[in-house]
Amino acid sequence: MTKYSRQRECIREFLSERYDHPTAETVYINVKKDFPNISLGTVYRNLSLLTELGEIKKISTGIGPDRFDWNTSPHYHVLCTECGSVSDLKMENIDHINILAGNEFEGKIDGHITYFYGKCQKCLKKENG
Ligand code: ZN
Ligand code: MN
Repeated sequence: MTKYSRQRECIREFLSERYDHPTAETVYINVKKDFPNISLGTVYRNLSLLTELGEIKKISTGIGPDRFDWNTSPHYHVLCTECGSVSDLKMENIDHINILAGNEFEGKIDGHITYFYGKCQKCLKKENG
């Protein structure tokens, strides 16, 4: 294994142990422990490559930086507008909204990207004292 593929493997492994959908910055800070000379740019490039290869999923919410998910199977996320956390949401698949959208569209709908937002339990507790 080359140094580059070892770095990439380390990034993939780090992600696979996390359920909080880390940012590139968080990945960088942790991978640096094993590869002190790695740059943030290299981490970004590896995350992009892994995303292209379909080994991880990029979550671009428009709120805060992109996040990364080792779980590439279809599932939904909730964003906390208070602390920026991104959590998995176990809910029924809502693919039928593709049909609803298609009813209003002359072309062809292939899918949808949906994020839910609100306040996480932690922030809600803080708010309520
Ligand atoms: Zn929160
Ligand atoms: Mn997820």
